Amino acid sequence: MIHAPWRWSVEGKCWLKHRLAAWYWGPRGPGRKRVRRQGLLVVAFHRITTPEAFETGLWSLVNGSPEVFEAMVNFLKDHVTIVSLATLRQALDGRVSLPPGSLLLTFDDGYRDFVTFVAPILKRHRLPAVVFPTTAGLGELKRLLWIDRLALTVDRNLRTESVGEGVPAVHDWRREARKQQLIKAGLKAQSHPAAATAVDWHDGGCGEQEIASRLYLSAEDLRMLDPSIAIGSHGISHRLLTGLSGQEVVRELAESKAVLEAAVGRPIEAFAYPVGRSSDIPREAETLLAQCGYTMGFTMECGHNRLDSAKNRYRLRRVHAGTSLADLQFNMLKALEACPQ
Ligand SMILES: [Zn+2]
Repeated sequence: MIHAPWRWSVEGKCWLKHRLAAWYWGPRGPGRKRVRRQGLLVVAFHRITTPEAFETGLWSLVNGSPEVFEAMVNFLKDHVTIVSLATLRQALDGRVSLPPGSLLLTFDDGYRDFVTFVAPILKRHRLPAVVFPTTAGLGELKRLLWIDRLALTVDRNLRTESVGEGVPAVHDWRREARKQQLIKAGLKAQSHPAAATAVDWHDGGCGEQEIASRLYLSAEDLRMLDPSIAIGSHGISHRLLTGLSGQEVVRELAESKAVLEAAVGRPIEAFAYPVGRSSDIPREAETLLAQCGYTMGFTMECGHNRLDSAKNRYRLRRVHAGTSLADLQFNMLKALEACPQ
């Protein structure tokens, strides 16, 4: 179980920007009008869960509890029109116009929290969304993403290091800080094996298969999703494409697409770049995605999307959902006002 008291102090510092966001989206703010003029917003979520249900992983990937998510949904329904991936595809092809203030909901990495906590809320509100799983959790050999391997190792090592009868474990914030350090080192090295060797990882007896089965959406889970939930690819192993050879990039794109299509029996048309900063996207990404049969690519670059430019379709910008309604409101403000096109 993870407590994150350190987050409260972070939230405290955000007081001013959250006040600004409340005004921006309030009755006297410009938010409602601006969002209707600016094309499409795409919001990126990772995990919605509770401290009790959080088994392992990066706590920083948790966008909030189901209650927080529902509050976000209520706010969005009040200010924007949530559209499906199929509608976006048609709009990019010039076959339909998106309604003013369109917004797409996306969920990266394929955590099983999606079916537990998110899908029921979306169903109740009759809202479409897109999930972008990696194929690590599919097939017989289930592997943890390298990020989750690091997280699990830190969880285990720090947990067993100092826990005694009635003695609290190492503070959770220290554990989370250690995970962040390792992830940053892994990203800097641009290769997951380098990051994986940074920790003492013993595969035997760690129960990786069982943990991966609980942590990620399975092929069966994906098949059972409501048809209003579109599925895209996030690659095979969540490796940064820029750290790979051309051949390996094509494998990440083509094989993940084929595996997902075989698993769910639906065409996979959208790809979300792992990590997704502009520095993580190969220069020839547009060509490679098109060659592999994708029609849309999603980055993690902040901003809104004008649909009048064809080059946008493989570099669609997204807004981080953040970890509270106020965070989401501020990040949407930033995407509309501060991020360049
Ligand atoms: Zn990801």
